[in-house]
Amino acid sequence: MPILVMKFGGTSVADLDRIANAAVKVQREVERGYDVIVIVSAMSGRTNELVNWVETTSPFYDAREYDAVVSSGENVTAGLMALRLQEMGVSARSWQGWQVPINTTSAHSAARFESIPRDNLDAKFAEGFKVAVIAGFQGLSQEGRITTLGRGGSDTTAVAFAAAFGAERCDIYTDVDGIYTTDPRVSDKARKLDRIAFEEMLELASLGAKVLQTRSVELAMRYKVPLRVLSSFEETDETSGTLVCDEDKIMESKVVSGVAFSREEAKMTLVTVEDRPGIAGAIFGPLADAGVNVDMIVQNISEHQAKHAVKVTDMTFSCPINQVARARKAMEDARDAGLINFDDLVADEDVAKISVVGIGMRSHAGVAAQMFKALAAENVNIKVIATSEIKISVLVDRKYLELAVQALHDVFELDKA
Ligand code: ADP
Ligand code: ASP
Ligand code: MG
Repeated sequence: MPILVMKFGGTSVADLDRIANAAVKVQREVERGYDVIVIVSAMSGRTNELVNWVETTSPFYDAREYDAVVSSGENVTAGLMALRLQEMGVSARSWQGWQVPINTTSAHSAARFESIPRDNLDAKFAEGFKVAVIAGFQGLSQEGRITTLGRGGSDTTAVAFAAAFGAERCDIYTDVDGIYTTDPRVSDKARKLDRIAFEEMLELASLGAKVLQTRSVELAMRYKVPLRVLSSFEETDETSGTLVCDEDKIMESKVVSGVAFSREEAKMTLVTVEDRPGIAGAIFGPLADAGVNVDMIVQNISEHQAKHAVKVTDMTFSCPINQVARARKAMEDARDAGLINFDDLVADEDVAKISVVGIGMRSHAGVAAQMFKALAAENVNIKVIATSEIKISVLVDRKYLELAVQALHDVFELDKA
């Protein structure tokens, strides 16, 4: 039997009615002749609630226990989905991550897949079961402990199963009907794309477009999994939604294909660190060890140069806002250990990152200038800039986020096909 993977996100399983609605979609695919692997998220809001309970109980929590708590939301929806399908006469069985088992690294709260043995599910399909419902987001470490794959990780569970089982396609059902030129909740001019290249989706995801977890796109690209995003609330067929695919399968070629943003950014500046070989390693090593995801980095001549006997520099970096305390502690510990020195650590927690992405940028000059002019025309000040081959990102004050996204969407004419 051909295998299909269907993933339902949090809003798609938010209550019993929605689980029933998702189950109907699964049943339809079974009737079309597929053996179906269903991946479910926790009910929407549940994972946030669990994270909050952990953080309230223990601010610098033990990540093993974080995973023990935070993974639990998916257990409920997996069992309920299997029960619902059984009620509809579809033979279904649920599996938690450890039961499959989904083997991962031991990097708690950000684990990566190592292997997914097929034996258990294959045996069930061979017995005549039509649907395996898998709790998304979960894994099992070599030490035998539950791990989780990072927020939004059920997308990655879905792609990993599609790759492991040679699925015909991996369908990601969510609360929007596809991938848009920008988040349709922020711009009503956002336009749905029929197709998007893996590379572009990878950038959009890593720059904040949470419609797909970054790692899921990476895996789909590596294992050539046809990946589709579509609505769980609408009638859908083979042509619905957006297909994420290889660049050469896309006719449309715009220089910029999307605008992504991340609201929860912070900009941190270490004021007057010594400007010597090895200083960047001495700063970013401890930050990495503390699990801080540093993105943009700028090193510049310190404004306080004149006052100091040795050469000094200011080091600015961005990281997710919920990692500011962790970053501060890592830097203070490094200073106490004599690894680095700085006068002050200034955190600006009112920034957002906005990025334009497009593979067309590889062969087009002037995109950055166009972007900066469009922001200037709206009086939006740029605080930090970072570029790569197919993206340009800026940090701006968070209050300008919507305005800036709109201005960039307009200037690159993303509303037009
Ligand atoms: P799920 O719970 O199904 O995993 P998510 O909330 O993680 O859903 O992802 C879907 C959301 O992603 C949408 O509701 C939308 O607001 C947001 N989003 C951000 N950028 C985009 C984009 N470019 N296209 C579509 N949706 C986007
Ligand atoms: N429930 C997890 C989260 O909210 C995983 C997921 O939904 O993909 O991050
Ligand atoms: Mg998601």
